[in-house]
Amino acid sequence: MKGQVAPKCPHCGATMLKWRVPIASTWPEEYFYVCLNDECPYYVQGWDVMWEQQATRASYRCRLDPDSGKFVPLPVWSAEALKDDIIEE
Ligand SMILES: [Zn+2]
Repeated sequence: MKGQVAPKCPHCGATMLKWRVPIASTWPEEYFYVCLNDECPYYVQGWDVMWEQQATRASYRCRLDPDSGKFVPLPVWSAEALKDDIIEE
């Protein structure tokens, strides 16, 4: 995936960042592109949606699934979640 241009979030237009997949996860990929914009409407509205649907204080951020090329949710439990695993370039 070298030289690949980072995708833009379809919800807010921010450039998506590389996020390192946890070693303990079942995903085979090394990293995903994730939108980590705290103003992203997808993430902002996710708090309400999760509360209404599941009574859970959580949200999700937009993630690009490299296999399908589709944008799918990545659950988060706080605004700081995931941010320790950003891959700086
Ligand atoms: Zn976004």
